[in-house]
Amino acid sequence: MPVVPITRLKLRGQKVLVRCDFNVPLEGGRIANPARIDATLDTIRYIAGQGGAAVLCSHLGRPKERTPELSLKPVAEYLSAALSAKVALAPDCIGHVTEGMVQALAPGGAMLLENLRFHPEEEANDRDFSHELARGKNVYVNDAFGTAHRAHASTVGVTKLLSERGAGFLMMRELEALRAVTENPARPFVVILGGAKVSDKIGVIRNLLGKADTILIGGAMAYTFLRANGIGVGRSRVEEDKLDLARNLIAEAAAKGVSLVLPIDHVVAAAPEPGAEGRVASDIPAEMMGLDIGPRTVEDFIARLKGAKTVVWNGPLGYFELPAFAHGTLAVGEAVALSGAHSVLGGGDTAAAVAGAPWACKFTHISTGGGATLEYLEGRELPGVKALER
Ligand code: AMP
Repeated sequence: MPVVPITRLKLRGQKVLVRCDFNVPLEGGRIANPARIDATLDTIRYIAGQGGAAVLCSHLGRPKERTPELSLKPVAEYLSAALSAKVALAPDCIGHVTEGMVQALAPGGAMLLENLRFHPEEEANDRDFSHELARGKNVYVNDAFGTAHRAHASTVGVTKLLSERGAGFLMMRELEALRAVTENPARPFVVILGGAKVSDKIGVIRNLLGKADTILIGGAMAYTFLRANGIGVGRSRVEEDKLDLARNLIAEAAAKGVSLVLPIDHVVAAAPEPGAEGRVASDIPAEMMGLDIGPRTVEDFIARLKGAKTVVWNGPLGYFELPAFAHGTLAVGEAVALSGAHSVLGGGDTAAAVAGAPWACKFTHISTGGGATLEYLEGRELPGVKALER
């Protein structure tokens, strides 16, 4: 069943509960990166333009109770400036005072509820809490793709109580971009996987083995695969308990005719420490660890990306937080961005790694979801999306 887009909802004169993903990084109480807020502005503006009153809600961080440092106050201030209109912050997401503010909110206006996770009932998908959240609203819009893999009160519970419901523009963009790469992707279809752990990406590899033509593996997870192939990796990060699994995945890829490509050289150092100097090695010395893919691997990966029509990328290819080990991620990232392929990049770390690069705007889509993107790529149904179907 298809998800109803916001453009098909009746919004005029309605109180619209909008689940947003305002889970932004904070540094010293200030928003370090507002990308997630910016990504939802068109949905908020649209509701206002249609004469609806937008009651915005989100979680921020992982509080178990009211935690002043995780107040959404900086988000309310950012929204007020971005929308050139006051977005008042309610003292809580439920309760009498908040209800009064919702009632008084005029058509075309927007307000923000305080952090949903100040109440443990949010993550417990509590029925009574869902009723409280729905109170005083008649329409529900979910624009929080980043939490769509969680069955919480604000993503699932409340949808049972508001029959007029649908997906915001950001949610629609995310779903369309991911659908294009998983349902009938244009070929050749190349998948790039990196990041810390194989264990996080097993489901993705399994599901995409049935769809991709080539899977390029970098980052720390490559060392588990190399070790599984009997190759010495020094002190590189290896998941010892996943060696059998890695062997199985290599065999599965071979059986399906999918090229599963591992690094052939590395940038190594004794440890990922500021000031560490990397050097290029084909064989990793016993006392060293691989912290980035080497130049021959970069060249190989870029060659294999030539002619690709679809590219999905999740996980940095090296310890990108230190510039000495960021080259592989940036060089391959640039090649993907400029390849002309339908390219979808997912995961907070991957997005952070390319943020600021002049070519970052050339990706077809940079997903705002980390866990949600991975679960989608695993072929799993996202409860927050399922709940929007009518
Ligand atoms: P993930 O959250 O699984 O996407 O992993 C991202 C993290 O993996 C980042 O913090 C990277 O610094 C780290 N990473 C990538 N490559 C390596 C590597 N070769 N050795 C250690 N850590 C790495």
